[in-house]
Amino acid sequence: MRYAIISDIHANLAAFSVVLDDIKRQGGTEQIWCLGDTIGYGPDPHACIELLRQTNHICVAGNHDLAAIGRIDTAAFNPDAAVSCHWTAQQLSPADVEYLGKLPLVIQKDDFTLVHGSPREPIWEYLTSTSLAKENFAYFKSQFCLVGHSHVPLVFSYDENSTCIGRRFLTDIQLTLGRDRLIINPGSVGQPRDGDPRASYAIYDSATRQVRLHRIPYDITSTQNKMIKHGLPMPLVTRLSYGT
Ligand code: ZN
Repeated sequence: MRYAIISDIHANLAAFSVVLDDIKRQGGTEQIWCLGDTIGYGPDPHACIELLRQTNHICVAGNHDLAAIGRIDTAAFNPDAAVSCHWTAQQLSPADVEYLGKLPLVIQKDDFTLVHGSPREPIWEYLTSTSLAKENFAYFKSQFCLVGHSHVPLVFSYDENSTCIGRRFLTDIQLTLGRDRLIINPGSVGQPRDGDPRASYAIYDSATRQVRLHRIPYDITSTQNKMIKHGLPMPLVTRLSYGT
């Protein structure tokens, strides 16, 4: 079975659409595993939720998903994120709000634990350093954990000697699941922050036990033009050009 691992679509319909096309081009997947933040920042929150719901998928809640429906406070958001969150809330249909409100914080699927931020703090914690990742291996029972939130593709491994190693997840890495426990971040579909503006996602093949990262170019300008039209904050518009 093959599974697509996606995260942080952030209402970027152009990016999400090319990722779904790429998944099809590669023969399709049994199911999409989505790590949250489907909305927020970008110009198409309703369309992205609708498109995701047309797929066979499982999904956990992200901080932007819960903030847009009033479940968590935007006081912890930076000013641009808070502005985009309030705009996003006005774009959601009652069905969107109901869908987001039912998203779990944690999903156990086969050998994997799915969360948005970290197994210790599913909504808020960013796993950006090896020391933070190492602490988090105590907070999930499965062999592998999938996280998003930082928008940076990363792999943290934890071996039997309790050694934790973190590295960037790049498209030329053949990541084969073996004995080590792993925390894997597939990067962000709709707002990459690793200096590469292309949409990022991963495919897991349970037969070969391999996880591969994919980077897909999309029409960044079309997303930016929609954001400008809706009056969304310019720093959120320009960062898409640079993947920062
Ligand atoms: Zn995010």
